[in-house]
Amino acid sequence: MGGDAPRQMMSSSSAQYPQLAQRPKGKQIHHIYRDRLGQFTNGGQYKQQSLMAKLYDARLSDSPHVTLEVWSAPDQTRPTFAEATKKSNEYSKAKKGDVFGPSWTTHWFRLRFTLPHEWIYKPCVELHWDSNSEAMVWSEDGNPLQGLTGGGERNEWVIPNHFRDFDQEHTIYIEMACNGMFGNPTGGDTIQPPDPNRYFQLVEADLVVVNLDARALFYDFWIIGDAAREFPEDSWQEHQALQVCNEIIDCFIAGEGSRSCIEDCREIAQKYLGPHVDSEKVYEQDKSDDIVNAIGNCHIDTCWLWPWAETKRKVARSWSNQCDLLDRYPEHRFVASQAQQYKWLEQLYPYAWDRVKSHIKKGNFQTIGGSWVEHDTNMPSGESLVRQFLYGQRFFESRFGERCKTFWLPDTFGYSTQLPQLCRSAGMTRFFTQKLSWNNINNFPHTTFNWVSLDGSQVICHMAPCETYTAEAHFGDVKRSVSQHKSLDQDVTSLLPFGKGDGGGGPTFGMLEKLRRCRGLSNKVGLLPKVKIADSVDEFFDRIERKVANGETELVTWYGELYFELHRGTYTTQANNKRGNRKSEALLHDIEYLATLATIQGRKGYKYPKKGLDSMWEDVLLCQFHDCLPGSAIEMCYRDSDEAYERVFKTGKKILKDALVALGFDTDHEKASDDKQKPIKAESVTLQTLSWHRETPKHLTSYDDDSAANVTQLDDDIFELSNADLKVTVKQGAITSLYDKKARRELVPEGATSNQLVIFDDKPLYWQAWDVEVYHLQSRKELKPETNSHISASGPDRVAIQTTTKISDKSWIKTTISLAAAASAASSASSRLSQVEVEAEVEWRETMKFLKVEFPTTLTNTEASYETQYGIVRRPTHYNTSWDMAKFEVCCHKWADLSEHGYGISVLNESKYGFATAGKVMRLSLLRAPKAPDAHADMGRHHMRWAILPHKGALDERTVRAGYEFNYPLRSLPHSEPRKIKDLMGAFKLSEDSDKSLIVDCVKRGEDDEDASNGDMPAKKGRHVILRIFDSLGGFSRGRVLFGPVKVGRVWRCNLLEDVIGEVEVGEKGFEVQLRAFEVVSFKVELT
Ligand SMILES: [Zn+2]
Repeated sequence: MGGDAPRQMMSSSSAQYPQLAQRPKGKQIHHIYRDRLGQFTNGGQYKQQSLMAKLYDARLSDSPHVTLEVWSAPDQTRPTFAEATKKSNEYSKAKKGDVFGPSWTTHWFRLRFTLPHEWIYKPCVELHWDSNSEAMVWSEDGNPLQGLTGGGERNEWVIPNHFRDFDQEHTIYIEMACNGMFGNPTGGDTIQPPDPNRYFQLVEADLVVVNLDARALFYDFWIIGDAAREFPEDSWQEHQALQVCNEIIDCFIAGEGSRSCIEDCREIAQKYLGPHVDSEKVYEQDKSDDIVNAIGNCHIDTCWLWPWAETKRKVARSWSNQCDLLDRYPEHRFVASQAQQYKWLEQLYPYAWDRVKSHIKKGNFQTIGGSWVEHDTNMPSGESLVRQFLYGQRFFESRFGERCKTFWLPDTFGYSTQLPQLCRSAGMTRFFTQKLSWNNINNFPHTTFNWVSLDGSQVICHMAPCETYTAEAHFGDVKRSVSQHKSLDQDVTSLLPFGKGDGGGGPTFGMLEKLRRCRGLSNKVGLLPKVKIADSVDEFFDRIERKVANGETELVTWYGELYFELHRGTYTTQANNKRGNRKSEALLHDIEYLATLATIQGRKGYKYPKKGLDSMWEDVLLCQFHDCLPGSAIEMCYRDSDEAYERVFKTGKKILKDALVALGFDTDHEKASDDKQKPIKAESVTLQTLSWHRETPKHLTSYDDDSAANVTQLDDDIFELSNADLKVTVKQGAITSLYDKKARRELVPEGATSNQLVIFDDKPLYWQAWDVEVYHLQSRKELKPETNSHISASGPDRVAIQTTTKISDKSWIKTTISLAAAASAASSASSRLSQVEVEAEVEWRETMKFLKVEFPTTLTNTEASYETQYGIVRRPTHYNTSWDMAKFEVCCHKWADLSEHGYGISVLNESKYGFATAGKVMRLSLLRAPKAPDAHADMGRHHMRWAILPHKGALDERTVRAGYEFNYPLRSLPHSEPRKIKDLMGAFKLSEDSDKSLIVDCVKRGEDDEDASNGDMPAKKGRHVILRIFDSLGGFSRGRVLFGPVKVGRVWRCNLLEDVIGEVEVGEKGFEVQLRAFEVVSFKVELT
């Protein structure tokens, strides 16, 4: 009984293993069968016989079904829909093959179509439009529907169901922009300056019926093919992938590409992908270990190879696409950062804005980043970084009821060491970035880690291991999310940010199809890490944060800056723009302080100029975008930013004057305080906008005064400048000796020249405006003047030597080296040091040259110090390791310092950010001359100042204060009640006995104050002053903030967003503060 049954079964259900060999069968030659796969989907000579010929069932592009007319907007205007569709605009006939241009022009098409009867019930009909440029589909009644990106990037618009009717003609408009995703680069090299005469051919304007099965098979085959190509040959999964692919091709050939054979092919694909890849259900299968978190995004550079005006359209195009895709793919999640881009959409595209808002409400379109733009973090001041968060978070909260939890900055050129402290205080405990994968010297060692600020604050930082923020959602991206993950010991999860950036419009339907298949593959055969669509980036970080909090893992730490080993030229390129930034920051600081005082004790009717300040800040913050301030954008962008800074200075000048007038100053009779020949009148009052008391130097009348500045000509073209502190010998425009009389030491090495202008050949490997490469140092050439210097100021307040140096036939630099009377006698605040100041005027017409000024010293240290936001960064002066060497050019703010025990030299500047200290030589970077992407970057006239500040003793508050004072020129104005105004300007200053390391860096009114609010958020009762105080030297600091004559109620500690954290005890005249090293603290002071 037991023996019969199996025999029965065998004979009925399966064939017998044959006794005799039927025919020869060889082992597959692996690479031949693998290379064959390309025939099926790659186009080329077999396209008509391949799957590619089956993707569309029908195609129409001519009358009577499709008619096309065009109206070209004048010049480079970008008219609105209403302007473009005015009756008076004459639309003329157009057709496929026509050419439009030149670069940056706009062409509006009116497209009328009628669907053939037999198409009405087809499952999918699309419009395919390819003008090789960016474009937007508009409805007839003026709603922007979807963005298109030419060149095959994103050509399809799915015809909505309400267009599917019999014999009905429909009209849509298409706004064609004559630029591609990356603007209009010349000769196809992305970073070359725009070609003004680029023309674009309309190659596709077709209605097509899509064969959805063929399209689905295309993605099935793509992913299984990738498994065959990318899985290791020693895995069974690789071999099976190859067999499945070959089986699909064989089946397609046997069925001659028929509909039914395509269905059969898809069934074969299921052997490898499983049965669920046609829907989001694939992500419901086997959810264990789904560790790769894909998230859609579209990184739109706020300006770069196109101006702001085009970015506004890119945002509308890209985000409209995503709204459509979010409707069609339930699993899809999309994140977008940059409050500024949302604000543009809100102002210019109400329909798209409503669509975005409704998706944000649903939770699938997600705000992220919490900053105004994705800004540079090297150069903006501390307060600017604060405002990026304050303006960003307040925008998100006011429009969507929620702040962002994750600071999102995938593409900026290095990360300031104080970011963890600042973004935490702005409500974000996590940070996402990616750019360090571009390092061209050292490989950054972590993926997920604790990033620790100067003050010890930390955030969780994640750098996507797929090493891009615009992944195509390829099989390889998913694979690399584990193979390149450097923190697997601590946590195996990762983010995979996918989607086309910069006007490519974000994720495509194809990317979502590929991800479904990657997941299906992982479910079915394994080996590939399991990808899911992240619910949100916040959820990804929440899980890690919980894990850390619960002690389930301990992340590796990285202390200090995330120095980017590339793009070091961005500290110098586009000098005027950087100068605009520094000057705006100082102006805003002063206005906010004085306007705050004016609202407390100013003339009746004075109102805090919130509107003006907001517009100034928004311009400044916008210009800090990571391709604007760094200097890596095209010329058009710098015309935009020049205009923005012009607006800032114009508004600033007006509202500053208003505040001064409200405070009772006579603004019509100002004497410039830096005009040393004409000292200010006695009744003038010095504006005290910094947190310590400054005095205007007294005017000396005699050279006999101990502190007087003297100048003597020692020899032909050799001069000596001196005061009570310093003796400076200038020979041929450079300093051959700098002698500290009190310390009795020489600061310029024997035979060397300080304040020496040097020029370098500057041809980086590729990214011209961005990079300066280490080999440029080998081309160092000293610039020597051809004519003699002369005395341009002869004391006793100030002496100066002026020298003109020819750089080339086209360029020259005029420097004025000056020494003022010794500060000790000129001011009672005798801790002020004497400094050698240099003013330079440059006519700069060079090509690929780098101008710097050098200061060789007699100091020894393996580390130099550089001012950064709210603190000091120390960096090596040697090249011991490749990590040290990589820092051959670094970013500094108002000063850099090289000190040894007992003595040091600080170099101050008022608009520069690039610096290097190599051994004993300090070097300030002045001007570059890259020719791409702006062919005229930095050409023309420049004005700049720097100073050499020798100091006996360690680096301390004298340097920090000198840096501020060098950047905040003293102003004195007549006032009718000098004592009263001086008293008022004593408010919110630190008491004399406070630690000198403390700085009150910002005094402003509360954002939500009823008399100062901009109305974006509900105003609250009461009036407040916000103070921002930090420890500038890196140690525990204690001090007392004074109220002066201001009547104060309660005082709270608050975060950067001005949320109250805890109450502070208030004394009669002020309150105590205690800060840890490099801590930044904000206080909210109630006015009564
Ligand atoms: Zn970018």
